[in-house]
Order: sequence, then structure tokens, then C-alpha cells
Amino acid sequence: MNGSKISFDDTAVAFGDKSDKALRLMYFLFCTMNYPLITKVGIWCTSTVLKLKLPVKGLIRKTLFFQFCGGESLEGCRTTIEKLKQSNIKAILDYSVEGENTEEGFEANKLEMIRSLEYAATSENIPITVMKLTAFIDFDLLIKAQSGLSFTENEKNKYIRFEKRVEAICAKAVKHGKCLYIDAEESWIQKAIDNVVYAMMRKFNKDKAYIFNTYQLYKKSALNDLTNAHQELRSMNCHLGAKLVRGAYMEKERERAEEMGYDDPIQPNKMACDRDYNLALDYCIDHIDSISVCAGTHNEDSSMHLAELIDSKGVDRADSRVFFAQLYGMSDNISYNLAKEGFNVAKYVPYGSVEKVMPYLMRRAEENTAIAGQTSREFLLVKKELKRRKG
Ligand SMILES: Cc1cc2nc3c(=O)[nH]c(=O)nc-3n(C[C@H](O)[C@H](O)[C@H](O)COP(=O)(O)OP(=O)(O)OC[C@H]3O[C@@H](n4cnc5c(N)ncnc54)[C@H](O)[C@@H]3O)c2cc1C
Repeated sequence: MNGSKISFDDTAVAFGDKSDKALRLMYFLFCTMNYPLITKVGIWCTSTVLKLKLPVKGLIRKTLFFQFCGGESLEGCRTTIEKLKQSNIKAILDYSVEGENTEEGFEANKLEMIRSLEYAATSENIPITVMKLTAFIDFDLLIKAQSGLSFTENEKNKYIRFEKRVEAICAKAVKHGKCLYIDAEESWIQKAIDNVVYAMMRKFNKDKAYIFNTYQLYKKSALNDLTNAHQELRSMNCHLGAKLVRGAYMEKERERAEEMGYDDPIQPNKMACDRDYNLALDYCIDHIDSISVCAGTHNEDSSMHLAELIDSKGVDRADSRVFFAQLYGMSDNISYNLAKEGFNVAKYVPYGSVEKVMPYLMRRAEENTAIAGQTSREFLLVKKELKRRKG
């Protein structure tokens, strides 16, 4: 065992870099989001007024955007990233623009990713960038690739261009010594994504893990997928980069499985998902010689499980092969307390213009309604800190 005892309850640490004013804004936001009806109506109104081009951008920028995003451009994220650095927290640059479906758009996204890697190269506090492969190819083409149906000549060319885009980004990341996380998406395109990511790992993960795939432990198959990928890569003397998450598309996955009459790929319950998540952490730490792992979670038990695992297995808390990651603006009690104790912690820092990050912001708002219990926790923590400051 090494290191001091960890707790996620210290709100003075969690919100140490927030002014009273910023904290009051957080209180207002999380309190509002606590009500599902207000959130639903708010989301509807916001997208409507934006479509009507009414002047609400300033308001959004000062509230939701300020809470959950780093800035509107790379340079605009600098203050946020510097602030995180003061608390020993690293940044994962996340160009959070979605819904592109033209070849020009995919190419523009590639260029932005390259720019973000060049920007990351200017700061040691940005060791990682992240991307979704659906930013570089038509969603339907990924479905087709996964289904094994043959491509037309035009589709073949599009697919080759897609693979080249991904390879150019991976090469850039490796050139600058940065890690690249590739997000997991819906199961009906995930196998196609896996194929591309593993090809990149075989090419670039020879000395260490630069390219990371994401494993969604809400899937029954995820633990097997993780161990199989590891064994295969190890047999080729390559490292596995594994970001472990629970998974963001549960309802969608279940609905589609029922509609189309195939086996639900999702675990039967939350307990099974939690169990596999922690087993996956165990597996990664047990094979730390050939796996680099990132725990992408807001779950306190899993975060504590990994922290204790690191200590009990004698892994250095600052070992660069192990990272904890949370989204910017969420679960600061986990991020800041772990970072204070010397663990590697990074926050996803989304950036992009207010209009373009709206889908991301809407998802954060939805996720923070009372259903998942998440807001209650965020809200209670902010409330506790405000009370402590007054006291
Ligand atoms: C840094 C980071 C990166 C992420 N990257 C991705 C990504 O690439 N792809 C992606 O899909 N998601 C991603 N997510 C989102 C993630 O998958 C979860 O939706 C979210 O973090 C909530 O899970 P949790 O681990 O924080 O814990 P909790 O809040 O404890 O768990 C909630 C999650 O448990 C699962 N769950 C809930 N009920 C059940 C049930 N009845 N049966 C089975 N499972 C259940 C669901 O996945 C649900 O989202 C990321 C999250 C973070 C913090």
C-alpha cells in the first residue's frame, strides 16, 4: 500500500478554484436541471430560439456553456486549461461538434483535429485529445461496413478517404507524443469502429499505448472484447489503450434490439454493469505492462476501486499508464480530490461555437436531471460548499 487515504467528500478541495459567484451560478444551474420538466421545456425553448436566431447566445455562453465547455476555440480554452493545471488536473481536448454528413465537413473536422493536436503540442497539460469516428464518415456507411454488405465503387472511395483521415490524425498524435482516445458509439457501428481502431493500434502502439479504444461495460460482451483485444495485441508486441466507460446509449440500444428482434446487448441490470466495470479495471491493472487504462466515469465506487487498486498493487499514483477522467463541469469532487492525492486526472474539455456544441450541452442538461441521481449529488455538493463558505 502507498499514499494517503482518499475521500470524495471534501468540497473545499472540489470547488477550491471556484469563486463564490461561480459557485452560485452552479447552484442555480444544477438546481434548475434537477427538475425534469423545467429541463425539457428549457431544452425545447433554447433550440427553438436558436433556430429563430434570437439573441440568446450570450445568455447560454454565460450559463450552460460556461459550466460545461472550455471555450469557443482552441485559444479560448487556454484559461480553463491553465486553471485546471493549478489543481494538478490535465485536459483532454474535445472538439465537440456533431452532426456533420458531407465529405467537406468530414475533411474540415480532420483539419480541426490536426489543429487541436498542434495546439496540444504547445502544452504539457494537454496529454490527450479525443474524437468520435462518426465525425469523419457517414453513419450509414459505418452500418454498411459492419453488416458486411459490399460497397459500391463510390462508397469504397469514401471509406478509403475515411481511413486515411483517421490515420493522419493518429500519426499526428504520435508525432507529438499525445494520446488519442476514440469514443465508443452505438453497437450497430461499433465493430466497424473497432476494426479501424485496432488497425491503428497495431501500427502506432508499438512502444506504448498512444491510441485508445473505448469499452462500454454496459454491454454483456465488453469484458470479453477487452481481454480478447489485449491478448491479440500482446501477441503482436503491441500495447492496448483502453478507456473504460459504462456506456451512453442504453435506452437506444434496448429499443433497437426489441424493435429488430435481436438479443439485447446490454447487461440485465446496473449491478452487472458495475461488476464488469470494476472487473475490467482489475484486468487492466493486472496487465499494466501492456495496457494503459483510463477510467472514464463519474461513479464514486469505481473511482475509489481504481484508486485503491493502484495503491494495493504498488503502482505509482503518477504512473502515466493510468488515468481517471471526468467531463468538465461534472464530478469535481472526484477529479479534484484524486488530483490532490497525486493521481493522474484529466477532464474532457469540449470546445466549439455555442451553436455547434448545443447538442452536447443539451445532453449534459438531460443527464443532470434528477433521474440518474447525478444532479442530486452535484447539487448537494455545491449546496454543502456554499454552506461551508458562509459558515
Ligand atoms: C471521461 C468520459 C468519457 C466518456 N466516453 C464515452 C464514450 O466514449 N462512449 C460512451 O458510450 N459513453 C461515454 N461516456 C459516458 C458514460 O458511458 C456514462 O454514460 C456516464 O459516464 C455515466 O456512467 P458512470 O460510469 O459515470 O456511472 P453511473 O452514473 O454509476 O452509471 C450510469 C450508467 O450505468 C449504466 N446503467 C444504468 N442502468 C443500467 C441498467 N439497468 N443496466 C445496465 N446498465 C445500466 C448506463 O451506462 C448508465 O449511463 C464517457 C464518460 C466520461 C466521464
